Amino acid sequence: LIKVENVHKRFGTHHVLCNVSTEFMAGQVTVIVGASGSGKSTLLRTLNRLERHDEGRITVDGIEVNDDHKSLDALRQEVGMVFQQFNLFAHLTVLDNITLAPRRARKMSRKDAEARAMELLRRVGLEDHAHKHPFALSGGQQQRVAIARALAMQPRVMLFDEPTSALDPEMVKEVLDVMRQLASSGMTMIVVTHEMGFAREVADRVMFFDQGQIAFDAPPAQFFSNGHTNPRIKAFLNRVV
Ligand code: ATP
Ligand code: MG
Repeated sequence: LIKVENVHKRFGTHHVLCNVSTEFMAGQVTVIVGASGSGKSTLLRTLNRLERHDEGRITVDGIEVNDDHKSLDALRQEVGMVFQQFNLFAHLTVLDNITLAPRRARKMSRKDAEARAMELLRRVGLEDHAHKHPFALSGGQQQRVAIARALAMQPRVMLFDEPTSALDPEMVKEVLDVMRQLASSGMTMIVVTHEMGFAREVADRVMFFDQGQIAFDAPPAQFFSNGHTNPRIKAFLNRVV
């Protein structure tokens, strides 16, 4: 579904993505881990053009990721993203947060968009909160709204950049449960997270980033097994497991 070929990204002299090549298959759940600054967020952001790559080629469902306006619109409809900071529109209700993009970009009628939004709110367990503003919700609830908002565009891929890192511990589970449910519905997901339980149980593959390169990429059972020779992977596993 997503093809990344020889991608490079530099910020000034800092080589943040260094010849990254990989593919993400439809229905696959990939967890990305690695040290701070290793390029995880930058990779996610290049996949939906929040960041432009300097070299190489990325295609999402056959759409080449570049500055062409038509393909950028198509791309943004195919790829949903959820951030650490929920980034909801503070002045809009939960319902309006979710219906805004489908009404504008997909030209959906208010009625259809709201019906679909309510269905999504039921899925994330928040149907009773549709008319509240984000500030009236907990962090975990806001993040579930952010997931519903991304899903409202009916994306084929969902990117998550540390979706639970800003949450109080007791709210992490409710968000991971929604993500788990999404994974079992067959959604293609790429998730940067420190939640190793989620990686173990839900991921089809774990990718370890090291200084802008993919240092390891295999099913979780292999990632969490002993016998790594890369000292940085060993150190990472010692810390998290
Ligand atoms: P973390 O775990 O801390 O989120 P990360 O693996 O997501 O780290 P990135 O955010 O991809 O890392 O950043 C990789 C490197 O690129 C870092 O050294 C960062 O400082 C640098 N960087 C990221 N965005 C920019 C930017 N817009 N301008 C300059 N440098 C940047
Ligand atoms: Mg990051």
